Amino acid sequence: MQIKKVVVIGSGTMGSGIAAHLCNANIPVTLLDLKTEISEQARDRIHKSKPPLLLDKSKINNIKVGNINDNFDTVKDADWVVEAVVERIDIKQDIYEKIFKERKKGAIVSSNTSSIPIKVLSEKLTAEEKKDFCITHFFNPVRYMGLLEIVKNENNDLDKINSLKKFCEIELGKGAIVCNDTPGFLGNRIGVFAMQIAMTEAFKMKLSIEEADAIFGRPMGIPKTGVFGLYDLIGIDLMADVLKSFIKELSKDDPFQEVAKEIPLVKKLIETGYTGRKGKGGFYRVNKTGSTKVMEAINLGTGDYFASKKINIQSDKADLKSLISRDDKFGEYAWSVISKIIKYASSLVPSITKNFNDIDEAMRLGFNWAKGPFEMLEEIGVELFFNKIDDFKGNIFLENLYKSKNQNFYGSRQKYTEIETFGKAKKKALSIDGNSSAQIYRFNDFNIVEFTTKANALDYNSMDALKKATDKPLIIINESMQFSAGVNLSYTMEFAEKGDFKSIEKFIRYFQETCKHLKYSDYPVISAPSGLTLGGGFEVMVQSNFVASHTNIVVGLVETIVGLIPAGGGCKEMLARWLDTKEAKNDPHYASLKVFDIIGYGKTATSPTEAEPIKYLRPVDKKIMNRNSLLEVSKKILEDNKNFKAPTETKFNLAGISVKKKMVKILEGLYNDKIILEHGVIVGKELATVLSGGDTQIDKNLSEDDLFKLELDSFMKLIKTKETQDRIKHTLATGKPLIN
Ligand code: NAD
Repeated sequence: MQIKKVVVIGSGTMGSGIAAHLCNANIPVTLLDLKTEISEQARDRIHKSKPPLLLDKSKINNIKVGNINDNFDTVKDADWVVEAVVERIDIKQDIYEKIFKERKKGAIVSSNTSSIPIKVLSEKLTAEEKKDFCITHFFNPVRYMGLLEIVKNENNDLDKINSLKKFCEIELGKGAIVCNDTPGFLGNRIGVFAMQIAMTEAFKMKLSIEEADAIFGRPMGIPKTGVFGLYDLIGIDLMADVLKSFIKELSKDDPFQEVAKEIPLVKKLIETGYTGRKGKGGFYRVNKTGSTKVMEAINLGTGDYFASKKINIQSDKADLKSLISRDDKFGEYAWSVISKIIKYASSLVPSITKNFNDIDEAMRLGFNWAKGPFEMLEEIGVELFFNKIDDFKGNIFLENLYKSKNQNFYGSRQKYTEIETFGKAKKKALSIDGNSSAQIYRFNDFNIVEFTTKANALDYNSMDALKKATDKPLIIINESMQFSAGVNLSYTMEFAEKGDFKSIEKFIRYFQETCKHLKYSDYPVISAPSGLTLGGGFEVMVQSNFVASHTNIVVGLVETIVGLIPAGGGCKEMLARWLDTKEAKNDPHYASLKVFDIIGYGKTATSPTEAEPIKYLRPVDKKIMNRNSLLEVSKKILEDNKNFKAPTETKFNLAGISVKKKMVKILEGLYNDKIILEHGVIVGKELATVLSGGDTQIDKNLSEDDLFKLELDSFMKLIKTKETQDRIKHTLATGKPLIN
């Protein structure tokens, strides 16, 4: 069975997301709604979406739109019809009747329902129709969330389900997990339960919402929005509907019932329009008085808002064992929440899935957790867990584990896919090496480096690991949200605040030396980025010999935004790429000016399609929809390059002062038009010095080391200025850079 044409019915949040993603996979798709205006508006929303749902906005018109009365005959040609209308069984069943009358024989029909069991959805279908009907539950936003839950019914043609699964894996890049027909399937059943536990325990233990979010966040390997932040993001009213549906669908003795009970404060928030970020605010709100904005947090006891406090739990590393063993309210809260999640998840095996491992994977792919409940249990350790846990009678999984005391109960990972993922591979490493910022996994014929810091920010140790791992072919890859958000700015600022610029210089030199080493070592180096690949992260990628990039990347050189310039080879490599063009051969100023524009504005690209015209990525770089495949593709590159020879060093012919003058003129124009401030001119002039080649002429060959030196000198001048330091401090404190 081949899927060449798709019709999506219902053009709301999910239908439009699914249609956009089919467009990303170059599959012709038609989006139908009650009226054509509605699906047209949906297309408009897709076009304007942020972060963008499309890899290539120019393809927007590949999504055809229409309405279910005049354009229903499009269903006749479709190989797959996805229903994504409102969560109402009567409306859904009417649509199925219409679809099955029109669809071509054998075409798949699926529903995106989040809560209606397949046995209810399909109760009116004939046995023949049921063969081709299933649930395909995508997560929002569809382009970015990895999870797709597929729910079968008893009549399904299994070959067809398997080919749909393959299509969704390979063409759409999803982690497709087949699961049982139980409420909330895997992701929402555990994910929403976890949120409710985190919330109700915070009420019980009288924690502030900032304290709860500080624990139920990065320390537990959960996104930093935490629980109350996530509630605000999803919508407090929407969460209330989700809970009502769980209460209705689940048995009376399910522990979910207890934590899904209505909470008076939450009810009041909804009634007064405090539905979260889309409303007047939620658990958090921004209070504007005059021109000042203050982030406020609600007091769970009184319902009053106070200026939000930053919580420092004095531990930045995700280390569950020490977290749950802490002798304070944070340790108590963490243990209470984690143990209840583990207890609940394990009590549902095998009823929601016989593979407990799939629950963990659903939490990674659908909620961006670093680890699911069973891996948390593995990390805590079977012994410590059973020493601390109170009652687990009737929980067959835990009872068996208690008897076996088998610390290695986990086994392999990512069983839902046949792809040889990095997650699977790292468990098979011959040995593990590394330091506090990166792990090195050693195999017979290659190494892997995985960065392990927050947002994978790079420091001296990250470079050390990279350098050490080039004794064999090297693949740089990781499983976290970001490839690398850049150099660790707080690490740099610690030196700057002490006036220890020597240490900063030493670090930048080592960064340059390592990147040069990556490029010219005897063995090939491959970067496999996904997510943020910015600044120093980009410099590591761009100085690797090969790139296998996920289609969800945000890539670019953003240093100027914090008052710096790229100094790890970013300027050098972008110059090399732009010098290697037809235009640059005819115009000695072309490359310098192009790169000045790109780096000067700190341009980023949000997909490979956007990255190629800027030359952040090259046509030869591999671009892959399924993140799980990055390792296989990287290994294939190694195989295809058995006779790898390091490249010869690039020579740079740059125009020097004549092109720098042009750049300075541009800066003056921007300053006069008040687009940049005085310090922007200073940063721009340093960038101009580097990109013009400094004191040089067009017929003089500059080496890579000459360019590195220019980058370093300018970087050091800028990091010593108070304005740049202030910008960095502001970015570190707020998570956002100052504009202009
Ligand atoms: P939505 O309210 O944003 O959109 C529903 C769309 O269906 C609307 O555009 C509406 O005009 C249209 N519609 C209603 N009746 C129709 C009909 N008879 N024919 C054609 N179109 C019709 O809803 P949504 O959030 O996109 O949810 C759609 C489905 O996906 C639901 O089953 C929901 O449970 C499920 N879901 C939602 C999310 C989420 O995060 N929003 C996530 C996963 C699954």
